[in-house]
Amino acid sequence: AKSLGRNTYAFYTQSITRQSQHKQRIYGELKDALEQDQLRLYYQPQVELATGRVTSVEALIRWQHPQQGLLTPNHFIPVAEERGLIHKVTLWVIEAACRQLADWQSQGMEVDIAVNVSPRDFAIDDFYDQVEQLLKQYQVEPKRMHLELTENTLLNQPRQIIETLERFRALGVQLAIDDFGTGYASLAYLRSLPVDKLKIDRSFVNDISAAAHDTTIVRAVIGLSKAFSLTVVAEGVETEIQQDMLRELGCDVGQGYFYNKPLSESDFREWLTQWQQ
Ligand code: C2E
Ligand code: CA
Ligand code: CA
Ligand code: CA
Repeated sequence: AKSLGRNTYAFYTQSITRQSQHKQRIYGELKDALEQDQLRLYYQPQVELATGRVTSVEALIRWQHPQQGLLTPNHFIPVAEERGLIHKVTLWVIEAACRQLADWQSQGMEVDIAVNVSPRDFAIDDFYDQVEQLLKQYQVEPKRMHLELTENTLLNQPRQIIETLERFRALGVQLAIDDFGTGYASLAYLRSLPVDKLKIDRSFVNDISAAAHDTTIVRAVIGLSKAFSLTVVAEGVETEIQQDMLRELGCDVGQGYFYNKPLSESDFREWLTQWQQ
């Protein structure tokens, strides 16, 4: 039994070592990717439920890896956060979104872009200034840019984050709480936050299925949003039944595979042209 224990332990440390080597490799390659133009933004439509209009998209990052093909964020965002590279990634995303918005603006296309930011971005003193500078540089109207933050980001270092959020809001940038319902924010705390939108986590949207229409939580979040005059977005809308139910419940915006998955810019434009017909 003793030797088995030792072997198990050896196996365990070996696998930890392998894991950290794996992360180290991703970290190194991601640094190169930032310089070698391997990152991409994919766009997923956000549809106004009352009108069917596409008023915005969420930008979701992808990595066009030279050997491994197109990688989704779960392969590298956690490593970037852990190893202190996330802020570089965020700035890359915001600049790419600004460039895209400027391009769309010049073509008379009125679609906003929502980007995901990390709690760690708010630990950077001049995060606000960096974003403001990019919006100026690309002559993008701030209201076209939305920032999505998870509920738990806001519980982290509330004071500093709230001050920064208030500055973004004064500039006109729209703020959304992502994955709403999965965190631990109290109602009283929510009320004090300078945000414009709540995004209902897709696990709750999933409860509205053909089999069992459990709308309890979705209904509660929509009620809460209305009470605080917030726009409410449902993520993970996969079926027409879910869409119709959400519309009936008063949800403002839907996003999910029912409309489309995240697409490259050209595929998104093609989809949009057909959608608008
Ligand atoms: P998220 O912000 O909650 O993004 C939504 C995720 O749900 C996306 O996965 C999207 O492809 C997926 N999704 C959309 N519609 C549906 C649906 O109908 N059903 C299901 N099952 N899934 C759906 P993705 O693109 O793999 O992104 C995963 C997470 O990675 C994001 O979750 C976000 O937390 C993070 N992420 C993505 N892009 C960025 C980024 O640029 N910066 C940072 N910091 N994080 C990012
Ligand atoms: Ca998001
Ligand atoms: Ca989300
Ligand atoms: Ca999520």
